[in-house]
Amino acid sequence: MATVEVIALGGVGEIGKNCTVVKQGDDMVVIDCGLSFPNEEMLGVDIVIPDFTYLVENKEKIRGVFLTHAHEDHVGALPYLLSQIDVPVYASEFTLLLIKQKLEEKLPGKEADLRPFNFGDQIQAGALTVEPVRVTHSIPENACMAVRTEHGIIFFTGDFKFDFTPVDNKLTNITRIGEIGREGVLALMSDSTNVERPGWGPSEARVSEGFRKVFSEAQGRILLTTFASNIHRMQQLVDVAAEFGRKVACVGRRMEQNLDICSRMGYIKMPKDVMVRLDEIRDYRDDQLAILTTGSQGEPMSALVQMSKGEYGRLQIKTGDTLIYSARPIPGNEGAIWRTVNRLIRQGCRVIYESPTPIHVSGHAYQEELKMMINLTRPFYIAPVHGEPRHQFLYNEIAKDMGYPEHRIFTLDAGVPLVFEETNAGYGEPVACGRVLVDNAGTVGISDEVLRDRSHISKDGIIMITLAVDVEKGELVGDPIMQSKGFQGPDGTLDKAYEILWDNLKQLSREEVRDVSRVRHATSDVVRRFIQKRTSLRPLVLPSVIEI
Ligand SMILES: [Zn+2]
Repeated sequence: MATVEVIALGGVGEIGKNCTVVKQGDDMVVIDCGLSFPNEEMLGVDIVIPDFTYLVENKEKIRGVFLTHAHEDHVGALPYLLSQIDVPVYASEFTLLLIKQKLEEKLPGKEADLRPFNFGDQIQAGALTVEPVRVTHSIPENACMAVRTEHGIIFFTGDFKFDFTPVDNKLTNITRIGEIGREGVLALMSDSTNVERPGWGPSEARVSEGFRKVFSEAQGRILLTTFASNIHRMQQLVDVAAEFGRKVACVGRRMEQNLDICSRMGYIKMPKDVMVRLDEIRDYRDDQLAILTTGSQGEPMSALVQMSKGEYGRLQIKTGDTLIYSARPIPGNEGAIWRTVNRLIRQGCRVIYESPTPIHVSGHAYQEELKMMINLTRPFYIAPVHGEPRHQFLYNEIAKDMGYPEHRIFTLDAGVPLVFEETNAGYGEPVACGRVLVDNAGTVGISDEVLRDRSHISKDGIIMITLAVDVEKGELVGDPIMQSKGFQGPDGTLDKAYEILWDNLKQLSREEVRDVSRVRHATSDVVRRFIQKRTSLRPLVLPSVIEI
């Protein structure tokens, strides 16, 4: 019997870039291929994706990438993987619809092998079988994945909550999850992100009550911002607007695209005559309008952020407007979001971001829902995913409370395989794993050194020194030139640094001066050390030596 390995390339010990491999002999399947967003230290970085070295090295063995749902932290890195290897991609028709746009933008001309699945399909992937099972979340057509191996089923919950009144009335297939549990789940890889929240999370449908309250009070226009993929949230806004006799317009490219596709494909049901184009809103009074907008994360180019600055040509904020902030700030975006909110308030817009009647609910399971998933699947082993170490730790404590002994509970680290043999399980040898940074221009692979330099420059500035050397004679030609940008030390620091540099250079022998790289190093060392000692600042010191 082959061993079975589960290897997370991301999504464990962190929130984001979910990507996990199940390997049995020569067959591998990949569950999700997500990105994460940069932290505040990653200057100029747009997105972070998993290091795909391990997948590229094993590309012959990969039978498919299986996507649980269309959120960026589960699908956003797919174009970068498909630019390196050709593998079939399995997902629901809805998920494929959303990712198709992005693939066309990022990989123009590439014919990706996209294969739609239905819930309940048994998809053969070499000797493995993958079965997607419907489960509720904050996006339509969301799946758990049951991967059948020789040792039993590895059950990935993906992102989930147990919502008994989902907006699209498509309930979790609890019966099927229970049947899979009875068949024999070897390991449960569960979402753990909301494990700190006790009880049972509120249904997405609760949000309509929050919207009704705002609609019953607002005198002017009502704006709503949420994630462009949150189709059910938009559906509820449109329904409530129709109830109150308001027309709905939409601003923001991604949101317009998603609304268009989803209403054409029937994933969103538009009440009759409720949608209007943005240029038609002038035909209506303010209290007859609601406007959906992108920008819930304070993205600089989004419609909402530009409106907050008064720079959006198609729509201006005015006194009397009400904005419903119907989203959760992704960690790292808080600063940009609050700056946007503050600018909107200054323009006379009322901003509702917290309310006793919810205007946003989480798409992830709370404690009791997580316990219910354990109870339904009755796994032999437990290893939480989609969480930081604090979430994984707390999840495992809960598993212990439910009677799981220590040796059946695992805390996964990215790149470290969890190896299942016939009668036991344990950690294997780490594989190549890490993060790859992509900058705002789409360049992949921004190195740690580049980040370090950016950090030094942004904090303490840059000092440039230009020297000319006559290599034949072993002499310096003329005086060094020292310039700085963004550096500010106590008065006279640069003059003194220049003096010390000059003194040092004069002491070099002819032989030493002929060695240009030595001159370069000596220059940066002397200046860097002096500045650090005198000011505790660490500007980037950049010597440039011209050979004459
Ligand atoms: Zn999700």
